[in-house]
Amino acid sequence: MLDNLTTRLAKVVKTMRGEARLTESNTAEMLREVRMALLEADVALPAVREFIAKVKEKALGEEVISSLTPGQALVGVVQRELGALMGADLGADASQLSFAQQPPAIILMAGLQGVGKTTTVGKLAKYLKEQKKKKVLTVSADVYRPAAIAQLQSVTAQVGADFFPSTAQDKPVDIALAALDWAKKHHHEVLIIDTAGRLGIDEEMMKEIAAVHGAVKPIETLFVVDAMLGQDAINTAKAFNDALPLTGVVLTKLDGDSRGGAALSVRHITGKPIKFAGVSEKLDGLEAFDPQRMANRILGMGDILALVEEAQKNVDTKAAAELAAKVKSGGKFDMNDFKAQLAQMKKMGGMSGLLDKLPAQFQQAASGANMDQAEKQVRRMVGIIDSMTPQERAKPELIKAARKRRIAAGAGVQVQEVNRMLNQFEQMQTMMKKLSGGGLMKMMRSMKG
Ligand code: GDP
Repeated sequence: MLDNLTTRLAKVVKTMRGEARLTESNTAEMLREVRMALLEADVALPAVREFIAKVKEKALGEEVISSLTPGQALVGVVQRELGALMGADLGADASQLSFAQQPPAIILMAGLQGVGKTTTVGKLAKYLKEQKKKKVLTVSADVYRPAAIAQLQSVTAQVGADFFPSTAQDKPVDIALAALDWAKKHHHEVLIIDTAGRLGIDEEMMKEIAAVHGAVKPIETLFVVDAMLGQDAINTAKAFNDALPLTGVVLTKLDGDSRGGAALSVRHITGKPIKFAGVSEKLDGLEAFDPQRMANRILGMGDILALVEEAQKNVDTKAAAELAAKVKSGGKFDMNDFKAQLAQMKKMGGMSGLLDKLPAQFQQAASGANMDQAEKQVRRMVGIIDSMTPQERAKPELIKAARKRRIAAGAGVQVQEVNRMLNQFEQMQTMMKKLSGGGLMKMMRSMKG
């Protein structure tokens, strides 16, 4: 799936080369691929639509800076916008928990059953105790499953925080108020309240958690959502967001193989920052949420960006500019330059995109033949150049019959091959003369797509 997207986008990036701006038509195909990628990552359709519209608006008319091709520029826009949507623009503070409440600072946990709420309470207690040096009390208001209360007691003990016992006979609001009272008396700085989760959205459950919220007025109300949930995430998020003033989201089970599309759906619906990510079943498996990393994961963009960066890194524009300046100022294009050109082509990875930019003879050499053979040919040409003396490289016109034989023997090829190579060199030299400095730069740039 990921490979697929990478290949598809790389293809589109390629077809877009040589255009100076992003337009409705040259971005359409690329945006289709991005849309597919989002749907494959299980992002809900309304969120996909909104995102694509935003990217389109940002991209249209964007001037493509000289070091990029339009395809690369569009990839950049997509990455930036998705990062922003994931919360990169909210700033570093967005992922911080607030303690701005008369102690204890109360954290209320909300979410469906099985998403990882209780585990997350344990993780948070550990994080707050160890990283923030807080005295933490936990309590379970899940009166429907006695096992849930015992489970919270167990994880709380594992992280060495304090636990307020409750029973299935108590009412959730009473449990929360009693725990709050206890926390005040015993100078706890944070109280984390775990709540009941049902398997689906449930009117009663929503009323109950809203009542707990109203009774204790938590500073943080965290919606816990399973990254594996996919499309369902949007309905659940909507229900909880409507019932409660959420302050943030915890995305669990990101260690699974989901692409994490739920993150985008939840951000779309709630607009609330995703504060933490659960990355293992263990109690140390909690991380501060990283919006940009999530954006890359959703799109499989890590790979795309690596491709783009690779392309930019590999094309040595400085060397190209130097060569252009040399040729322009009447300097001679010699064998060393030719070799540098060949090396550059090899670095740019593969011959296919380059061949149509090269003199006819090069194209003939590769036409019909497969790319492997073309690459082999380039390697042979480099071998021949390597067999020349520095003097011959600087002044190829010195190379007559006897030298040709010596070079051929040195490179392990036939003399005809040396002749052919010299021929190609002359064509390249002629072309270099014709190209103004700008022309060469342009050629190098257009090769990058
Ligand atoms: P709750 O019903 O919402 O309280 O969910 P639990 O805390 O009982 O977790 C349900 C299951 O998910 C348990 O098996 C947890 O170990 C597992 N779980 C919770 N968080 C994560 C996580 O971040 N990664 C993984 N792999 N599993 C998790």
